[in-house]
Amino acid sequence: MISLDPTIDEYVAGVRAGDRSILSRTVTLIESQSPLHEKKAQKVLQELLPHTGKAKRIGITGAPGVGKSTFIEAFGCYLIQQGHSVAVLAIDPTSKLSGGSILGDKTRMENLSRESRAFIRPSPSGDSVGGVARRTRETMLLCEAAGFDVVIVESVGVGQSEVALRSMVDFFLLLLLPGAGDELQGIKRGIIEMADDILINKADGENRQRAEQARLEQQTSLSCLQPATPGWKTEAALCSARTGEGVPQVWQRIEKFFRELEPKGVIAKRRQEQAVDWLTDLIRDELQGRFNHHPRVQARFPEIRKSLLRGEITVVSAARILLADFDGNPENPNHDHKN
Ligand code: GDP
Repeated sequence: MISLDPTIDEYVAGVRAGDRSILSRTVTLIESQSPLHEKKAQKVLQELLPHTGKAKRIGITGAPGVGKSTFIEAFGCYLIQQGHSVAVLAIDPTSKLSGGSILGDKTRMENLSRESRAFIRPSPSGDSVGGVARRTRETMLLCEAAGFDVVIVESVGVGQSEVALRSMVDFFLLLLLPGAGDELQGIKRGIIEMADDILINKADGENRQRAEQARLEQQTSLSCLQPATPGWKTEAALCSARTGEGVPQVWQRIEKFFRELEPKGVIAKRRQEQAVDWLTDLIRDELQGRFNHHPRVQARFPEIRKSLLRGEITVVSAARILLADFDGNPENPNHDHKN
């Protein structure tokens, strides 16, 4: 029986053994805001690092209602039938505002959640996309160390979270609805450009024809775009998450993606670039946080803001003064920054 306050070794051994209850507790440790927990979590992650990186990392996005969770349920169950083990994570920076989070609703993915080779974790909550994404990334590493060979990360399909999602997965899948324009679905052009495949979901019953129409339109517009991944041709396909039609084909495409691109080093290069991007994002977020909470900056900010609004100083001067306060070299705005 694991103790109430497991040691680093207990966490590491439990995760390595694929024990899902310890895995859940380790994710909770990672999600904790307490500095003490963070220290411990980092030690656990450090120990587990050599055992990470072996999963196929798949991002799935699309507007609310497009059928993401229905699809992930069908896709995840299919993968398990094929002998895989599947972790499903989420990144949803709105979860705090809406009071619930995607994947938080227990009725979603009911069949998948009953599978012993599946692990489903709702989105962490947090103040910023960066904070939420960081915890999802770390959870992804834990799941890999626990032996899951497919990690699916879902995002809500609106806003900045797509960029964060793209920056943590190998393969990025966009789900669209038949018969509604991209704009209507809240899907920005930039998101389409990031996709490794586009799936027109709900291609069943009366929707079938409209779905085929939408697929052709997407296929045509894709031919004008740069590929999201060098050496890979993004395609638009049909799928019905409800009937399961088209689901195995999605996996075939993903396998082809890895089969063709892994030997060329494309995936390894992407992961290296992602790690460096993550590092810079982390430092920027950390510095921004420290700046915002710095007592001298906080004390000086209202006065600088007032001067700025009155047109007494330029924006650049205002930034310089506050940054000097942050650096510990307070500057006197009345002397140095008159012009
Ligand atoms: P999400 O918000 O993107 O996760 O969407 P959901 O998976 O919750 O699905 C939204 C609604 O669409 C639900 O009522 C689903 O039953 C329905 N739905 C999802 N996939 C399909 C599909 O392939 N065909 C049809 N006809 N309905 C679907």
